Amino acid sequence: MKSRTQVVVIGGGIAGCSTLYHLTQEGWTDVVLVERNELTSGTTWHSAAQVTNFGMNQTMVGLKTHSIQLYRELAEDPDYPINYHHGDGGIRLANTEAQMQGYRHFASIARGMDVQFEVIDAAECARRHPLISTENLIGGLWDPMDGDIDPAQLCQALARRARKAGAEVYRNTPVTALTQHSDDTWTVHTEHGDIDCDIVVNACGYRVNEVSAMMGVHHPVASMEHQYFLTEEIPAIRDAGQRMPLLRCPISDYYCRQEKNGLLLGFYEQDCKTWGMDGIDPNFVNALCPDDLDRVTDVLEGAFARMPALMEVGVHTIVNGPITYTIDGAPLVGPIPGKRNAFCIIGLRAGLGEGGGHGWLLAQQIVHGEACYDTWCIDPRRFAGHANVELTALKAIEDYQNEFRFHFPHEHRPAGRPAKTTPLTPVLAAEGAEFTVVNGWERVNYIKPSPDFSPTLSFDFDETFDIIAAEVANVQTGVGLAEVNGFNRIEITGADRHSFLDQMFCGTVTRRDGRVGLGYLLNHHGMVKGEATVANLAASDRGPSRVWYGSAAASELHDMDWLSQHVRPGEDVHLRSLTNDQTILVLAGPKARDVLSACARGDWSAAAFPWLSVRECFIGIAPATVMGVSFSGELAYEIHIPNASLYAAYLVLRQAGDTHGLKLFGARAVDSMRMEKSFLHWKADLITEFDPFETGLDRFVKLNKGAFIGREALQKRQAGRPHKKLVALQIDSATRPAHPGASLIHGEHVVGTITSGDWGHRTGMNLAYAFVDPELAEIGTGMKLDSCGQTVPATVIAPSPYDPEFRRMRG
Ligand SMILES: Cc1cc2nc3c(=O)[nH]c(=O)nc-3n(C[C@H](O)[C@H](O)[C@H](O)COP(=O)(O)OP(=O)(O)OC[C@H]3O[C@@H](n4cnc5c(N)ncnc54)[C@H](O)[C@@H]3O)c2cc1C
Repeated sequence: MKSRTQVVVIGGGIAGCSTLYHLTQEGWTDVVLVERNELTSGTTWHSAAQVTNFGMNQTMVGLKTHSIQLYRELAEDPDYPINYHHGDGGIRLANTEAQMQGYRHFASIARGMDVQFEVIDAAECARRHPLISTENLIGGLWDPMDGDIDPAQLCQALARRARKAGAEVYRNTPVTALTQHSDDTWTVHTEHGDIDCDIVVNACGYRVNEVSAMMGVHHPVASMEHQYFLTEEIPAIRDAGQRMPLLRCPISDYYCRQEKNGLLLGFYEQDCKTWGMDGIDPNFVNALCPDDLDRVTDVLEGAFARMPALMEVGVHTIVNGPITYTIDGAPLVGPIPGKRNAFCIIGLRAGLGEGGGHGWLLAQQIVHGEACYDTWCIDPRRFAGHANVELTALKAIEDYQNEFRFHFPHEHRPAGRPAKTTPLTPVLAAEGAEFTVVNGWERVNYIKPSPDFSPTLSFDFDETFDIIAAEVANVQTGVGLAEVNGFNRIEITGADRHSFLDQMFCGTVTRRDGRVGLGYLLNHHGMVKGEATVANLAASDRGPSRVWYGSAAASELHDMDWLSQHVRPGEDVHLRSLTNDQTILVLAGPKARDVLSACARGDWSAAAFPWLSVRECFIGIAPATVMGVSFSGELAYEIHIPNASLYAAYLVLRQAGDTHGLKLFGARAVDSMRMEKSFLHWKADLITEFDPFETGLDRFVKLNKGAFIGREALQKRQAGRPHKKLVALQIDSATRPAHPGASLIHGEHVVGTITSGDWGHRTGMNLAYAFVDPELAEIGTGMKLDSCGQTVPATVIAPSPYDPEFRRMRG
């Protein structure tokens, strides 16, 4: 066994084998995989191993396409061919028009990744799958690339290729401890000796948290028991002359594929069970959980009704094994939060289909610091500290119970809520607030007209349209109050704080006390990594001179890691998170100044407190820090208040607001208004796939200001041709917004992808942002949006269609 290597991958299932192989493909060949038993002896060996191309965003579609291409190549390798039934096709069934609409949207997303799905009616489903009845069926989504693979052969093939490239694989070598050294390198302790390395990767499947505990962290991953059975031969299949397509059924919660001349039927029963919550038997190796078909009777009935042939055959094998879930169903692939030189590829619930792609994206992140796609949807840092074992288990159960039921726009399912609240949450609930969830926080979405108000889940504009319109109108003409909880706030102190931030931002950020600036952070490839406000606070009785760095709620762990990893040795910079201690109340609208002046001493006139100012004060008796910034485009103040004083401040603001007609508003109204101002959302419009010039942030870049992260790479990119350009679009439809991921078409070609869309209530325009081919970025250029299968005209418009001179927010 080697005593030193570059990377140690722990775990030899599909996750570990794919990572090892792809590391060698990226050019790192001094790499090692250690496996406690034999390869694939965790979950992988007994997987149903279906491989679909279906994904709910472009990153997922892209990584699955990579799996399929890789698996085809492996299957066709004459030296070591493997069994891959590729291209049997698969159908996701639907019995509601709303599901069909969703499928059309996902087909639009896939189109942008060069993947062609078809949405077909019930008769066509039956024509393609001769065993199914069309009872209670409207149609389905056809994935021509669907298939299944031999999981053990797949892992052996990947390990074999990795070994050929120079990697080493140590079987029967359990990792027993991990030690990180002061230079951030690691020692991996195993039963057969120690291996020093630069980087460790946790790919330990359902034992993920045994190994994560060795580095003092816990991942939000829980296991569920999951069953399928294999039937005896079915004569109709034997005689069909074609392989049966795969089926996935959100109506009765099962999947089904051909296995030899019978069927493999897997279940997602409502009466489901978590597994291993209180520890896992060390001898659970190549093992299964006891069968329990009683649990799945309800699912079976649905499957029998759909495929009567199932009732005529016996079951010859039942498989019940642990399958891992995370809080949102997507895996955790990327850097381990709070750690250096440590990565994970865990929480895979469809690891055979996705594993090829996840290993590919992880290897790119390890070797290059970033992958070819923005990987936020699988980033381990997307959940913060609230993501504990109990919450993970609740969400895992909910997700399992809804395996094939996709989330509709604005849908937030109830399990594990509320996770994070402020003292105002019950107060706002009593005012009729409907909440959305942002990084675990219950954030007001809008105020409901009645307690039982429940809009239809749909991709169309729904019953909330007029509610949002009224909230926007109130902010436009009077004054509104919104709670923005969970906003990421990092306090930066120390004499070098400004020079540190100069390194981090690609533009110049104000250093003046009392002033606020907006800036963008790039990665080393010159691509957009983050967006933050910087507020400079002078020394006061509340603290020393300091900067408040503010960014999206979801960025809490991401930004803290990025900043702390770039503090240079000897630099006097200290970072402290205030995210969980402070909450923002946003006061917005032309009367906002009157309300603020009525409850906080001092001169709040435009001359004394102009736009982009920050000042410490009191709202009544509550200590507050007020910033003159606006995400709505109206005159607005962000009032930052310690949570202990939040209710007190709220009461004072409400009371002062009464005489000015103050009303509450929520995140949906903010989203509508920010669309009209061309303010961008992190990880929707601001992603690592594009540089700041492509994203239209030219005015925030100062290439000649001196060194900053990403500068050299950006200079090189600037010399080339932009890949895409972010544009504002007007969509010619009054019935449906443009949904993120949808494809834009020009002639016969896909020319762009929607990043955000919403109705602008002040402008009366259906608005969207999209990255499009640069030659189509001119104002006035027309193209077509594939909007849930309908072709809708879309036209490039000038940014900020509401108040383009930015007069209103300057007050
Ligand atoms: C019944 C069932 C059906 C499924 N069907 C499908 C399907 O149709 N399609 C699909 O895509 N997915 C399916 N899955 C899910 C898929 O099988 C998993 O996502 C995948 O196998 C997980 O692979 P992994 O590498 O993450 O974990 P594992 O296969 O569990 O591998 C983890 C490895 O880490 C090793 N390890 C643990 N601790 C240590 C340690 N301390 N030291 C060294 N090594 C260690 C383990 O021994 C193990 O080999 C199914 C799962 C189940 C249970």
